[in-house]
Amino acid sequence: MRGSLDILGLRFDELCEAVGAGPHQLKRLRAEYRRLMGGKMASDEGAARDPSVPDGDGPAGQPGGSWDLRAEPLPVVRRVEDGVVSKFIQRTADGLEIESVVVPMQRRGQAWKTLCVSSQVGCARGCAFCETAQLGLLRNLSVPEIIGQVVAARRLGEPIRNVVFMGMGEPFDNFDAVVRAVRVLTDPNGLSLKWDRVTISTVGRTEGIRRLAALGWRRLNLAVSLNAPNDEIRSRLMPVNRLEPMARLREALLAYPLRKCQFFMIEYVLIPGVNDAREHAAELVEYLRPLKSVVNVIPYNPRRDSPWPAPAEESVVRFLGWLQSAGQVCKRRLTKGRDLLAACGQLGNRELARGK
Ligand code: SF4
Repeated sequence: MRGSLDILGLRFDELCEAVGAGPHQLKRLRAEYRRLMGGKMASDEGAARDPSVPDGDGPAGQPGGSWDLRAEPLPVVRRVEDGVVSKFIQRTADGLEIESVVVPMQRRGQAWKTLCVSSQVGCARGCAFCETAQLGLLRNLSVPEIIGQVVAARRLGEPIRNVVFMGMGEPFDNFDAVVRAVRVLTDPNGLSLKWDRVTISTVGRTEGIRRLAALGWRRLNLAVSLNAPNDEIRSRLMPVNRLEPMARLREALLAYPLRKCQFFMIEYVLIPGVNDAREHAAELVEYLRPLKSVVNVIPYNPRRDSPWPAPAEESVVRFLGWLQSAGQVCKRRLTKGRDLLAACGQLGNRELARGK
């Protein structure tokens, strides 16, 4: 092999093929691959390493190989923190910006960090409550650009344990790159991210749901951004619903092979005066009845020039109460990062759209 090879978009077996590694070189090459990627993302970041694999601190090209490898995420040009959530921005070679958000999570006495990655710059889906939608779609991200967000976060010292495709873009509109990125993240010879710590969140593209189901990745989590109890409201909020109404979406979800203990995560951005009434809660529960689901109620974060305010705390609590009393499993997402426009549906630098 000649020249420097960027490994960011490659699984280990693809790297072996690219460099023509022989069987006696595999151990050394794997150590180098993993070292450049930042080590395993095992059960708890930084804790577990495969003892059979040396740390590989030496430079590439040591005995066992003459590889010239690199893993170079795009440069981080800005980092913003509000004490809880942090957002970092990478600049692409063509002058665009990729936004990723690090969210601290806590449950049952455990704490960890989740990285919300982008799959596109901007988005074509036009959801009315979303800042990213204001950009339109600028372009799809490549596999190295997606993996580069994870590697960059870890180089910033963030102990990432979960990865959610919930940043800028609709992951199924960039299906092949997202699927390849998941394969790289979960490669047991590399980052080793556990499958059940990856979530893909879709606006409800049924073709993507079917294609994902066909892959048989039964431990991966699927989230659906629903945000409405009926077609009338959903079509107003989310243009995708005019093409793929809620009945069709539910059909695709019913055909999806969930594991016994698995649930769909149903995201519901609660918007005052739009989808937060008692009858909306009842309709939502009815729609979800045949599905195993957890509703994640997300208090709306007003985007710039938003026609709606944020919901009052009482209305969020009331809505959750209605769902619960109707037997629907639900939880509330704390609105982390509101101040720095890093909360749900709020990513995107409008300057980019102006230069489009
Ligand atoms: S909510 Fe998601 S799918 Fe909808 S416009 Fe925003 S980024 Fe795109």
